[in-house]
Amino acid sequence: MNGGNNMDTTWMKQSTCANSPADVFFPSDGMGVIVAKAICTNCPVTEPCLEYALQNRVEHGVWGGCSERQRRRILKERRQARQPLSATAA
Ligand code: SF4
Repeated sequence: MNGGNNMDTTWMKQSTCANSPADVFFPSDGMGVIVAKAICTNCPVTEPCLEYALQNRVEHGVWGGCSERQRRRILKERRQARQPLSATAA
């Protein structure tokens, strides 16, 4: 899977979750998020996984050890960092 863009997805072959049921990474509650994030902790491709989700605006699931809420926060911080100083000055 490459999400229809030109991002490198070879990292997916090295993922710790390659043989895990996909629904583990699309939890329906906080405890499920904790379980998924714990699996990500030992994954060697956390960074490209997170970046893939961020670049592709993947809204659901745990990617790169980050929950949906964490990814929204990262995207917001990136947007703010890109704004010119005049746009953020009060
Ligand atoms: S960081 Fe987590 S979701 Fe991403 S490939 Fe690794 S185990 Fe899977």
